[in-house]
Amino acid sequence: MESGSSKPGTPMIRKARNYTGAMSIESIPNFTKPAMALWSRFSSEHKKLLLANVWCGACRHEVTITNFTGAVKSGDLLLVGKCAECHGDVAWVIESA
Ligand SMILES: [Zn+2]
Repeated sequence: MESGSSKPGTPMIRKARNYTGAMSIESIPNFTKPAMALWSRFSSEHKKLLLANVWCGACRHEVTITNFTGAVKSGDLLLVGKCAECHGDVAWVIESA
């Protein structure tokens, strides 16, 4: 008695790694501790605004920064990442003073 097994060995593995920027912006693993401390001083709305308004010199307009890391340089919060549109390098300095 055989049940109609259709496709044997169908892979059931799903890659759920769609980081689209809609991920949590409250605790970002790529931030250094001091960067995280500065970052946490911004409201969620402010953070979203900042991340979606990074100037890209290649696109010549504001873009969303992706795959970014955060560090503190001279007391300012420095974000370095990729442009969501052209995937070029973009950087964003947020003065903390
Ligand atoms: Zn760009």
